[in-house]
Amino acid sequence: MGASQSEVVIIGGGLAGLACAVTLADREIPVSLYESRPRLGGRASSFADKQSEQLIDNCQHVSMGCCFEFNRFCETVGIADSFQRAAELYFVGPDSIGPDSNGRQFKVNRFAANPLLPSPLHLLPAFGGLSYLSWSDKIQLARGLKQLAIAIIDLENEPTIADWLVAHGQSSAVINRFWNVVLVSALSESLDRISLSHARKVFVDGFLRARDNWQVLIPTVPLEHLYGTVIQDYLKQRGSKISLQTGVENIRIDGQQVTGIQLRDGSEIDCPRVVLAVPYQRVFDLLPDEFPGREKLTGIQQLESAPITSVHLWFDREITSLPHAVFVDTLSQWMFNRSRLMQNASTESGYYYQVVISASHNLTGSARQGRTQSEIIGEVVRELAMIWPEANAAELLHSRMVTEHQAVFSVKPGVEQLRPSQHTQVEGLYLAGDWTSTGWPATMEGAVRSGIQAAEFLLADLDRPETILLPPAQSSFLSKILFRL
Ligand SMILES: Cc1cc2nc3c(=O)[nH]c(=O)nc-3n(C[C@H](O)[C@H](O)[C@H](O)COP(=O)(O)OP(=O)(O)OC[C@H]3O[C@@H](n4cnc5c(N)ncnc54)[C@H](O)[C@@H]3O)c2cc1C
Repeated sequence: MGASQSEVVIIGGGLAGLACAVTLADREIPVSLYESRPRLGGRASSFADKQSEQLIDNCQHVSMGCCFEFNRFCETVGIADSFQRAAELYFVGPDSIGPDSNGRQFKVNRFAANPLLPSPLHLLPAFGGLSYLSWSDKIQLARGLKQLAIAIIDLENEPTIADWLVAHGQSSAVINRFWNVVLVSALSESLDRISLSHARKVFVDGFLRARDNWQVLIPTVPLEHLYGTVIQDYLKQRGSKISLQTGVENIRIDGQQVTGIQLRDGSEIDCPRVVLAVPYQRVFDLLPDEFPGREKLTGIQQLESAPITSVHLWFDREITSLPHAVFVDTLSQWMFNRSRLMQNASTESGYYYQVVISASHNLTGSARQGRTQSEIIGEVVRELAMIWPEANAAELLHSRMVTEHQAVFSVKPGVEQLRPSQHTQVEGLYLAGDWTSTGWPATMEGAVRSGIQAAEFLLADLDRPETILLPPAQSSFLSKILFRL
């Protein structure tokens, strides 16, 4: 088969590949992007649910105010208006304080910044108001937060946050009702599999550094509309070519230099520059057995991953009008009221709620202990009914559970040493993906950053060096004084 030609090939149409493509296309370097699936977006995508006749996301994805590159990317491609910024969160916890989990009453705690207080004190009243923590818990928590913020961490030898919290006197009530709630949903891992440095980053970047960083941005349209159609059009208008359902078989390397790719259908494409933006589990499948600098990539074989489960529920009536909620002390972790959040939502097939369970190790494989999907869904529905009694009277019209087994890489101690640079020793070969070295956990922000970093390296090799990533965010005056940030 004859070879066609392309200047820059990107393999993988997840957010990393898309961010790289957009960065290059904006600089008049059109790319050819190959995606093996029928849609763009990778792990952040939607599928058609036959029964509800809706396009539903594989899982609710949210961004935060501190995700500067992702938010800028959304502005650039024109999808920023399709996110709702939540300046108010709702923490739902057992009203009675104590270890007894029977017969509890749940209370919704509104969590919002105080406009009169400077950052980071603006969140103090909100933390202080959490009814499921006692005053001594709150004092302990404040002490723990300060110690975490000022901690100097040896990345070569850091503990898990679980060990650190115990060593720093945090009680099991505070660990379960605060640290666990925030960190498991932010990093999609259990505390015994989260490094101290990644935990610190969540609190420093998300809550302590600047005023609006903690706010949550929630898409108001299916992910498919965000990353599928709009970005595809954006790239095509700038001369790029997107090929869906076109898997790449391998990358050709001749000596030190990339020379092209072979598609799964056998066709060859000559190309001096390739950005490999596939999940880390696929990287070595596409590369020859030997290539320069291979040893620098072998760390990814030690990366581990964590599952995320989403439970999709359609009721015959509204069980709560809250747009979203964070749960404490339950299997369910976050609830998203999709019928309220979505633009032009139809309730014809029911009122649609999505419950997210991150780090759902206990719901997969043998840890599931024989529990069926419908038993797990039943437990989630019972929890919702415990909080919102309206759910007792409501009829569950339809439900489904989706588990992404390799949703994110685990941010265990030592993980940063395993993540490779986007630059490789093979001329013309670049890497992108949330798993490459960005300092961020597996998030849309991390993926977008990696794509931009790959583009920066590629531009430098074309003698067009440019710093594209935004400079590190400035800390507020008080954050500098209180926490040395
Ligand atoms: C259930 C779940 C919930 C999440 N929730 C959040 C959240 O709330 N907030 C957040 O910020 N992040 C969240 N994440 C993480 C976020 O989705 C990822 O970090 C991000 O989407 C990763 O993007 P990526 O481009 O690095 O990889 P991917 O999205 O995995 O993209 C890689 C692409 O490469 C393609 N590919 C693979 N092999 C080939 C081949 N041979 N040829 C061509 N194409 C190929 C794949 O099909 C895929 O489209 C969540 C992830 C999951 C799974």
